Amino acid sequence: MIAKSVRIGFIGLGLMGKPMAQNLMKRGYNLTVYNRSSSSIQELTSLGAAAALSPREVAEGSDVVIDMVTDAPDVEQVLLGPRGVIEAARDGLTVIDMSTNSPRIATKIAGALAEKKVKFLDAPVSGGDKGARDGTLAIMVGGEKSVFDSCLPVFQSMGKSIFYMGESGAGQATKLCNQVVVAIHTLATSESLLLGSTFGLNLDELLKVLGSGAAGSWNLSNLGPKIIQRDFEPGFKAAHLYKDLKSIMHMAEEENVMLPGVATVYELFNGVLADKKGEKGTQVLATFLEKLASREIK
Ligand code: NAP
Repeated sequence: MIAKSVRIGFIGLGLMGKPMAQNLMKRGYNLTVYNRSSSSIQELTSLGAAAALSPREVAEGSDVVIDMVTDAPDVEQVLLGPRGVIEAARDGLTVIDMSTNSPRIATKIAGALAEKKVKFLDAPVSGGDKGARDGTLAIMVGGEKSVFDSCLPVFQSMGKSIFYMGESGAGQATKLCNQVVVAIHTLATSESLLLGSTFGLNLDELLKVLGSGAAGSWNLSNLGPKIIQRDFEPGFKAAHLYKDLKSIMHMAEEENVMLPGVATVYELFNGVLADKKGEKGTQVLATFLEKLASREIK
């Protein structure tokens, strides 16, 4: 089991990474942090974290390095690139990638790090920015079981439901399945509110009804009220869901698996991004449907 004396490095202090790092500090871990832009670094150092100037420097001062950046190229850059974690590789170092990318990237990174005797887990999360703040994330992990077991206390500091899914890549594979449901539920919530609005229903009451029966979902309860209040600020950015859908479509095509629901939402989010709304929350899909229907949800 990992003791609190273990030094943790954290790379990527965005909507998810910052509260996750804060929760590790609240549990008593010593943190060294790095972020590309500086504002969130200062927030963490004011709480007692040490700041590093590069991912390599993070790894030099840590026993376990966690990254929570955007997409596969970003993960490769901070872990395997120049001034990356790999430049501080040594026996005994463990790296955990908690961002969402793909099983293939996870196995590639696991292989590159294993050559330098560094252990690696892919451990993407679900539960949104709220789950990150509350420390209630679901965490799905791939890699060696003994490494997972030793890192369990670290995961338990950030999440409530921790699952070991199998060998390297199994965490990312699970997360892509998760995103199939998340994406289709985002469309379902948006379409249901648009139809309810067309019928002239009280939308707050409609959400209560749907949430209390078979139509209930995380998306409905968390994003439904935001759509009604026209709050499109990001908890999870539309551009990030689009990158996940792109990964799913890519893998489905390679495996000859037909996913018509995902294909539809993928095209809709392509439109959302073309509409320059990628930095908004995923619930902004509702406004795109409003445009197509020439009606407002109210
Ligand atoms: P975010 O707010 O955009 O934060 C991304 C962070 O990564 C930022 O701090 C960014 O630095 C840093 N970063 C990106 N590329 C980098 C690079 N090449 N080098 C160094 N730093 C880099 O995104 P987020 O919402 O926290 O999401 C992070 C990951 O979690 C994504 O893979 C996302 O799909 C996944 N996820 C998100 C949610 C959610 O609800 N938000 C839920 C589950 C999973 P800057 O500050 O300099 O831009």
